[in-house]
Amino acid sequence: MSSREAIGALRDTLGADVVALPDEFGDRRVVDWSGLPGATPLALLRSRNTQEVAQALAICTRYNQPVVTQGGLTGLVGGTNLRGDEIALSLERMNRIVEIDEVSGTMTVEAGVPLQTVQEAASAAGFYFPLDLGARGSCSIGGNLATNAGGNRVIKYGMIRDQVLGVEAVLANGEIAGGLNKMIKNNSGYDLRHLLIGSEGPRLCENR
Ligand SMILES: Cc1cc2nc3c(=O)[nH]c(=O)nc-3n(C[C@H](O)[C@H](O)[C@H](O)COP(=O)(O)OP(=O)(O)OC[C@H]3O[C@@H](n4cnc5c(N)ncnc54)[C@H](O)[C@@H]3O)c2cc1C
Repeated sequence: MSSREAIGALRDTLGADVVALPDEFGDRRVVDWSGLPGATPLALLRSRNTQEVAQALAICTRYNQPVVTQGGLTGLVGGTNLRGDEIALSLERMNRIVEIDEVSGTMTVEAGVPLQTVQEAASAAGFYFPLDLGARGSCSIGGNLATNAGGNRVIKYGMIRDQVLGVEAVLANGEIAGGLNKMIKNNSGYDLRHLLIGSEGPRLCENR
């Protein structure tokens, strides 16, 4: 099965607004800040919600089509950069603060929210979100989790994995793994959080 068929199926299902072709997304930046080479994606997916991500990944799996997720593209190791046969999945439209729960002291945010927006929303509600790094205005929470970002307050507050109580993730086959949890106590079974956080590391090791 070809990439062409995969992109055709994606366009049929999700529409041209979500699935853009190279001549439609123009000269937007598609590589990170590493300075390493990266190709233009065959198509750019800009899903608006979890369901659209799930539909897209299910189709890509059916067609054996590689996908690379892109956040704010501030990574420094080429983790988002493409070889030439992939589709890019950008989370830039999934940029909502879903909830600030003042009782549990938790925030639920979509993966594409910039770190600085998370910090400012927490602050406006009377809380302090401790992760901070120079790329705060551009990097996304999804990218922070995938890189298990540490930042400039890491010695006091730990890596971002220490601040996450739950993650909802779309698996490569399109299945949604629900795991949004607001409490420290959770003995309901296996906890996928720490398998998902830091996902960039193993991928880079495999590529070596
Ligand atoms: C000026 C500057 C300062 C920095 N300072 C620090 C620092 O102090 N500490 C530190 O740890 N890092 C630092 N970094 C690097 C840091 O890891 C990234 O900036 C940030 O965490 C990446 O977020 P992003 O949204 O830009 O991700 P991207 O660069 O877009 O992606 C990075 C990786 O995450 C994956 N990814 C992105 N979004 C998702 C998602 N939603 N789901 C699954 N995978 C996803 C990508 O495939 C890629 O592998 C810095 C970078 C810059 C440019």
